[in-house]
Amino acid sequence: MTYLINTATEFATDALRGFVAAHPQYVSAVHGGVVRSTETPAGQPALVIGGGSGHYPAFAGWVGPGIGHGAPCGNIFSSPSSSQVYSVARNAENGGGVILGFGNYAGDVLHFGAAAEKLRAEGIDVRIVKVSDDIASNSPDNHRERRGIAGDLPVFKIAGAAIEAGADIDEAERVAWKANDATRSFGLAFDGCTLPGADEPLFHVTGGQMAIGLGIHGEPGVRDVPMGRADEVADLLVDGIMEDAPQDRSGRVAVLLNGLGTVKYEELFVVYGRVAERLEQAGLTPVVPEVGEFVTSLDMAGLSLTLVFLDDELEKYWLAPADTPAYRRSPESLVPGQRRERTSIWEAGEDEVPDAGADSRELAGKLQGVLELFEKVCSDQEDELGRIDAVAGDGDHGQGMVYGSRGAVQAGRAALERGAGARTLLVHAGTAWSESAGGTSGALWGAALTAAGGALDDDGGADDARQVAAIVAAVEAVRRLGGAEVGDKTMIDAATPFAQTLQTEFDRSGDLPASLAAAAAAAREGAEKTKELTARLGRSRVLGEKSLGTPDPGALSFSLLMTALAEHLGDH
Ligand code: ADP
Ligand code: MG
Repeated sequence: MTYLINTATEFATDALRGFVAAHPQYVSAVHGGVVRSTETPAGQPALVIGGGSGHYPAFAGWVGPGIGHGAPCGNIFSSPSSSQVYSVARNAENGGGVILGFGNYAGDVLHFGAAAEKLRAEGIDVRIVKVSDDIASNSPDNHRERRGIAGDLPVFKIAGAAIEAGADIDEAERVAWKANDATRSFGLAFDGCTLPGADEPLFHVTGGQMAIGLGIHGEPGVRDVPMGRADEVADLLVDGIMEDAPQDRSGRVAVLLNGLGTVKYEELFVVYGRVAERLEQAGLTPVVPEVGEFVTSLDMAGLSLTLVFLDDELEKYWLAPADTPAYRRSPESLVPGQRRERTSIWEAGEDEVPDAGADSRELAGKLQGVLELFEKVCSDQEDELGRIDAVAGDGDHGQGMVYGSRGAVQAGRAALERGAGARTLLVHAGTAWSESAGGTSGALWGAALTAAGGALDDDGGADDARQVAAIVAAVEAVRRLGGAEVGDKTMIDAATPFAQTLQTEFDRSGDLPASLAAAAAAAREGAEKTKELTARLGRSRVLGEKSLGTPDPGALSFSLLMTALAEHLGDH
């Protein structure tokens, strides 16, 4: 359905007004549609392309250097009137005659034809090119009688490029027809489309079915078949077109996988992955394939595949630059041989393990024990942390902490086996935590471990003072990266009093286990206090008020881990 409407009957006009406002560097409004806002060379044929509205980017979206000179825009799904076509053609014409290009539909044929008569009566040379790419709509012998669907884009793109390259009207017309004769499309719909302001779609596809051979004006397909998986849909489209492919072909094809309105780009890519495979198997090489929305049908759920069987001339024009609101192709991106050949690809997990001294390796072994302890605590607390995060967040904190700590343990173990020292062990563990956990807390814990590693080295061990410095550096990294202050209801509310107490107690007593115990108590107190706060950062801020009375999950998990660490150190 259409959500944003002022007046249903004025929808197409309103949309056109906004389109022109959005693209003043490309188009100007004239009676009946748009023309290029820039001067075109005198004597250049004007390619005037159009049809009904509801198909954007077709057709107004392709007005600009390299494609169209103007586009008459009819009402939704109805042909522009002959006076609209005439007006746009008059405005676009600059001494080189006019090519009227449109998809082959009865209404368009009549109105464009009537406009052509009037233009000719005034002495303007007019040619008509009807795009007829839809293989479902007529037999191969009657290719030029078929309906026009997404083939509009490549046909107009190729004709526009020929004009840009200096073709006169005879030459441009010849190229346009040649492109049309080389173009085949095949489409499928999963559900119909609804006119703006209407309650019901123009047609429905029965659940579990897909309609083969749709039209782009909400015409239902020619037959229904059971809904297939994405690969099966791709096969159906490719097989359909290949059955109809011209015998005489170079093996190079322009490819357009076109979404009709509500099929997501990612879905199109899923289908295209298979289409590309199948084309390769068929001995066809796609030339700058296009996957996206080109000729839509309001909010139709469906897609179509278009192939243009290229020869050198068509390929040259298919590749030529174009600069229009909805279709842009730069010359630079297409020069063959400009693709960067990669000689080496950095793979994740290739991190080096530098040689390490015996003392540092021994410390690394102890740190690995701490990581294992963290993993155990996180697993034990997973449900509770998830529950608390669900109060005002997304409920994934327990899972994130488990995934993160588990990833860290695995990376730490692998690093130890390769002889890692303390610094390398923590750096690898930090990277793994962040990668495995995802989420905000994952990134912060990853940075914390990495920063702690950065405060150590791979040669000697670390005395207690240096270990304290490493822990303080870890908290500092969380503060730096997250930018939170005490009172924002984040793990910083536990981590800051923790680090401060650790440093002060250690400076006073020089007793690491005792200082850690005091610091863990401060962390618990800090976490407890977050109950009285509303979240101002992170995901919970949106539901900040809701979090009142519940501690911050990240602060709680921090205090639990530090408590376990202090007990662990006290025992050893
Ligand atoms: P996500 O918020 O991406 O779902 P988690 O649920 O795993 O990630 O972690 C949420 C916790 O992350 C919060 O409870 C909070 O302690 C912590 N957090 C969020 N943003 C920040 C920040 N800017 N600084 C410090 N900690 C933060
Ligand atoms: Mg969360």
